[in-house]
Amino acid sequence: MNSCLFCKIVRKEIPSQIVYETDLVLGFIDANPQAPLHILFVPKKHFNGLADLKKEDGSLIVDLLLSASQVARNHKIEDSGYRLVVNTGKEGGQTVGHLHLHLLGKRMMTWPPG
Ligand code: 5GP
Ligand code: ZN
Repeated sequence: MNSCLFCKIVRKEIPSQIVYETDLVLGFIDANPQAPLHILFVPKKHFNGLADLKKEDGSLIVDLLLSASQVARNHKIEDSGYRLVVNTGKEGGQTVGHLHLHLLGKRMMTWPPG
């Protein structure tokens, strides 16, 4: 058992508001939401980040994207729009070392991001 925060959430040792779950992916509400809708999608298998992924893990990224798109559809924001973000590494703003996809929605996004 590793001590990774998101692995603990996946193992349900730390409570979270789960909104989506398959054999491979867990989606839960971000504890410090940056938009009215802010959900994190994580592979249940631990990867530190994008750099850990190999070609054979490609379907996992598709799974994460499709999970987010499904939840966006559930929230009826597929037409109004939303933002998907993968913060990567220190300068990318990654603070939790378990690959995750942010779904941010239900407000107007700005560009460039901070
Ligand atoms: P990062 O900055 O690594 O891209 O994103 C990590 C995200 O995890 C942040 O948005 C932060 O609010 C969220 N987070 C950190 N700890 C917890 C936690 O214990 N539970 C939940 N639900 N979200 C967390
Ligand atoms: Zn982990």
